[in-house]
Parts: sequence; structure tokens; C-alpha cells
Amino acid sequence: MLTIFGTIALDTTRTPFHTVERKLGGTATFASISASNYVPTSLLGIVGHDFPAAYLELLKNRLDIRGLTISQTEKTFHYDSSFGHDLAKRTTNKTELNVIANYQSTIPDDYIDSEYVYLANNDPVQNMNILKLFSGPKLVICDTMDFWIVNKRDDVIKMIKKVDGIMLNELEAKLLFNENNILKCARLLVSNGPAFAVINKGENGSLLFHNDEFFPIPAYPTEIIKDPTGAGDSFGGAFMGYLSQQEKWDSKTLKNAMIQGNIMGSFAIEDYGVEKLANINAEDIQKRNQKYKEILTF
Ligand code: AMP
Repeated sequence: MLTIFGTIALDTTRTPFHTVERKLGGTATFASISASNYVPTSLLGIVGHDFPAAYLELLKNRLDIRGLTISQTEKTFHYDSSFGHDLAKRTTNKTELNVIANYQSTIPDDYIDSEYVYLANNDPVQNMNILKLFSGPKLVICDTMDFWIVNKRDDVIKMIKKVDGIMLNELEAKLLFNENNILKCARLLVSNGPAFAVINKGENGSLLFHNDEFFPIPAYPTEIIKDPTGAGDSFGGAFMGYLSQQEKWDSKTLKNAMIQGNIMGSFAIEDYGVEKLANINAEDIQKRNQKYKEILTF
């Protein structure tokens, strides 16, 4: 069983072309919708009393949401960000933690023996507390971002020491170690404990570091980019969803998981929020797999 913990958010996203307000987002939302294309996925997290019923329905239709708490007193986590003309660099305008701030870690009994756990970007202390509640997962991967690196760097490092794999974007990796070279960042990440590190570079693809080997891969080329929010989480969900179906996690398997991550990331950016991600099917994914194979074979 794959369980994903992280934020389930209302996102306000501003681009020079369009603004969407309080749309369904959050790291666990993108990651679990993406992962559910590979394996049945259980969602763990909290929303507030303002969380729209239609969003709840969308999650319920695709995921096991017994681990979703609805607070009657507080509001849902809200993230407000803007992108410039290149739709690449993001500026955070506001992070309203709301329900996340005082979240008390709890998991349903049926989730305790989850074999696969994905700790999507969230408070590293909460991530570590949640991890303690599982009986002995076979594979744990975490993500993080600038907000937590700036506010809780020591805890981020502690969290990295407890996982099998770490995933984050290029700017975050550089910020974490105050290091400009991403190959060195990848080595530093792995020197803290995990067996592998994945560094995402947006339209420039992604890098896997495992067993002292670097594996860079280009992004799946897409000409439609509306909203890059959630690309990393969708990558992470697909990566983890794919690995959850495998017997072992050797370099070849991890490289194949990278392919799935890039494919799901490419769907995520083609529309606002989870609009595209939640409306694709196995055939769409298969077509991109085929096309990607052609692109990477020469
Ligand atoms: P990504 O674009 O993949 O890096 O992740 C975007 C998602 O992260 C958005 O849907 C936000 O709701 C969520 N998010 C933003 N800031 C934070 C934070 N500090 N902690 C957890 N989730 C966040």
C-alpha cells in the first residue's frame, strides 16, 4: 500500500496571462493523484472547514481518503504565488499554514503497515512524526522546499537522514547546502543517508544520483505550459507510484521511475491546478511513454 502525506491546499496562482484563486492544490494532492495512475493510493493530511465539497468528491473518487482530517475550526492551507513571463521562476506571495500549523499526527489503523510512504513537501517535523507511526515501510521518499529549508533547516537535514530517497528542485538543493553545483548537491544529499537523490530542474529535466552514478534526463517536451505549480509533486507521485510496483530499486528501476516522473510532471503543467492531471487516462500516459522512448533513442 502507498500512503502519501503532505499538504492539501487551496492555491492562488498568478501568471501574466491568468490568475486562479483558491484552486485545489497542495503537495499531497498533486502527488497522490499522479501516483494513483500506477497504484491504489492513500492520502494523509488535513483540510479546513472551507474546503469545497467538489474538491473532496474529486479526491474521494480517486483515492483512499480515510486519512484525511477535516477541521471544523480552522481554514485550509493556502498558498499564493506568482510566475513571470517565462513561467519558470516562482515567487511566493503568501503561505498561510492554517490547519497545518497545529496538525497532530495521526494515521488510520489500516494505513499503519503501508509498505511505501511518500512524505511530500511539508513541515519536516510533522513528516518525521508521521513516519514514526508506520510499522516498517520498505521504501520512504521525501520532498522539501525553500520555506522549510529557510525556517527549519536542521529538521530538514534530520528528515533526510531517515529516508531512502530525497527529491527536491534545483534551487532548493542549492539553498540547502549553499552550493551552486548540482552534482555536488546530489552527492551532499546522499552523504546524509538516503540511497538516492533526485533533483528536478524544471524545463531542463532532472538528475538522479544513485550508487555513485549521475543520470541526467531531459524533460518531456510540451508546448503547452499554463501553470508549473505541482510539477515536482506530480513527478514525485509518479516516481513513487512506479517504484511501489517493483520488486527492487536498482539503478535501472530508478531510471524508469524518472521517466514516469517526467511524464506526469509534463501533464501537470499543461493546465491550472490538477485540471489536466485529474483528467488523463492510461492511454494518454502510454502515448507519452512511447513518444519519450522515441525521443531518447538515437
Ligand atoms: P511544486 O510546484 O511541485 O513545488 O509544489 C506546489 C504545491 O506546494 C502547491 O500546490 C502548494 O500548495 C504547496 N506548497 C507551497 N508551499 C508549501 C509549504 N511551505 N509546505 C507545503 N506545501 C507547500
